[in-house]
Amino acid sequence: MNEQHSAHRFETVAIHAGQEPDAATGAVVPPIHQVSTYKQDGVGGLRGGYEYSRSGNPTRAALEENLAALEGGRRGLAFASGLAAEDCLLRTVLSPGDHLVIPDDAYGGTFRLVSRVAERWGVAWSVANTSDPDSVRAALRPETRLVWVETPSNPLLGITDIALVAGLARAAGARLVVDNTFASPYLQQPLALGADVVVHSTTKYLGGHSDVVGGALVTSDEELARELAFHQNAMGAIAGPFDSWLVLRGIKTLAVRMDRHSANAARIAEALQAHPRVTHVCYPGLASHPGHETAAKQMRDFGGMVSFRVAGGEAAAVEVCNRAELFTLGESLGGVESLIEHPGRMTHASAAGSALEVPDDLVRLSVGIESVDDLLADLTRALG
Ligand SMILES: *Cc1c(COP(=O)(O)O)cnc(C)c1O
Repeated sequence: MNEQHSAHRFETVAIHAGQEPDAATGAVVPPIHQVSTYKQDGVGGLRGGYEYSRSGNPTRAALEENLAALEGGRRGLAFASGLAAEDCLLRTVLSPGDHLVIPDDAYGGTFRLVSRVAERWGVAWSVANTSDPDSVRAALRPETRLVWVETPSNPLLGITDIALVAGLARAAGARLVVDNTFASPYLQQPLALGADVVVHSTTKYLGGHSDVVGGALVTSDEELARELAFHQNAMGAIAGPFDSWLVLRGIKTLAVRMDRHSANAARIAEALQAHPRVTHVCYPGLASHPGHETAAKQMRDFGGMVSFRVAGGEAAAVEVCNRAELFTLGESLGGVESLIEHPGRMTHASAAGSALEVPDDLVRLSVGIESVDDLLADLTRALG
């Protein structure tokens, strides 16, 4: 964490890290520096190191400093989307002939990026159940350079013991990346548990208001940070100034939002578990969840995502999605408003027929911060 804020707690860091009042005007909120280039005081005379906004922009720099502080890392990098961040990481740490391990439950777009894009450039991959150390060990090869973990995972809310897998990856000479999108840095800090790099879709909880698409990488490894920053500039998929500003604005309320997301989701998971039309509920906060103890050890709370399986198969699951009203039918997650979706036909359609295929009777909820009583009433009605 940035020295200046290392003594402060998360809620304080979220509001202040990278966000000193503007030197020129005293503006309390960092301005949106909507600019491509910067006047030089004589050739090479850069003010504050800025020369061109792909290479650096003060609004993006404020976000990047903030993200690093939130994850307890040394360097944050902000991208145009979560997948742009993932692409930068893959192309920075992998070369043709290298191998990576991906989880058997992951964001569908991550699977598509690895299996349809990275593979074409000569990168090999295999799938492991990262909740099971034996499965991870079996997937590691001498050429493995990266182990990918998503915890909680999307959409089945599987839990992986980050410290344990970090040890396995390190022993095999590979780096561990944790996709921390579902938890957010408020609930879970993978770098402190031994991960080498954290990836985020800032589109989700960090932005928090369904009004921006963005991504981030955070690391404490100085050499990796330099390599990632080189690729960020060389490949160019940076976060724009206004998008950076929106994510920074969202982060100020991250802690209070996550508390409410988690409380609402816990109530909903319990209610679903008691519902006769629900055959299974995936929520790490439930004592019956196989990863409950690990989640309790490495997370502050269990987050706002809940998935459940409906009696009656795919048609019944689709029907529940269609009947919900307050839960808006849509992809994405992590906004203040509640969303419902059918992963098999929507967010995870690209994993159909693969080891990452999801059950067709599965419904995924992104539980928002509305009144939980209103949310429960809507779900009960949708379930019929
Ligand atoms: C959405 C998401 C991504 C991809 O992020 P984009 O901003 O949509 O590119 C990656 N991982 C997880 C867990 C996600 O939910």
